[in-house]
Amino acid sequence: KISKRLEQIANQVPVGSTLADIGSDHALLPAYLVQQDRITRAIAGEVNPGPFQAAAKQVKEAELNYKIEVRLGDGLEVISPNEVDVITIAGMGGALIASILEAGKAKLPGVKRLILQPNVGESNVRSWLIANGWVLTNEQILEEDHKIYEILTAVPADQTELTDSFVYRTRELEQGHHADRELLLKLGPYLLDRPTEVWHRKWQLELNKLDMIRHQLSLSALEESKRKQQDVEREMKQIREVL
Ligand code: SAM
Repeated sequence: KISKRLEQIANQVPVGSTLADIGSDHALLPAYLVQQDRITRAIAGEVNPGPFQAAAKQVKEAELNYKIEVRLGDGLEVISPNEVDVITIAGMGGALIASILEAGKAKLPGVKRLILQPNVGESNVRSWLIANGWVLTNEQILEEDHKIYEILTAVPADQTELTDSFVYRTRELEQGHHADRELLLKLGPYLLDRPTEVWHRKWQLELNKLDMIRHQLSLSALEESKRKQQDVEREMKQIREVL
């Protein structure tokens, strides 16, 4: 049994895929997908020796070595070009996910789908995707153990499965007015279209956080604090308008 978060990520992986799960920790996601017979092969990548060993142990104990290879290395360094068709990167900050994709760009041709689950900083991931020829096709949000997670799925912009509405969404992200674009990158075009209760809660919590920051800044007499306070107020206003 895996977490609801990992289950929802798993559900985005097409049946029959070869997968690279980067930052795999205990290799729970690839192990689950192989046990369910939903993927043909997987690479579990880990940069840290602790989680790398945990993954290797898990795979060995579950007798999954014939289908899952655990590799030690930074980001996409562990895969060769055209080795996998789906990449999952989950449970890290959005800035780190974007930097892993940026550093591993050369490995991406041939990859048909990216499934990314940033814990924070989702806008970093969305902006990297649209700046690099990927189209967001799905966004999910869920709450588990009092934490809220987003799962972003993207495919290459030149892939034929794309329908107009996906492309339209991406155009909006690329070409909208600056303020609209910033907001869409932050809030997510699909999530904004079909807001759920969890999504509302996430941004209400964010508003509360921003309000605390605004209050702190208002106590300072520095010019810079005043400017920052205005930025925070503008951001709060933008969020309030769409909630
Ligand atoms: N992906 C799993 C999940 O979602 O449950 C594990 C998430 S865990 C919180 C993040 C993992 O990413 C850690 O095990 C960490 O060692 C690994 N990690 C961080 N930066 C990495 C990088 N540049 N390349 C590969 N793995 C990385």
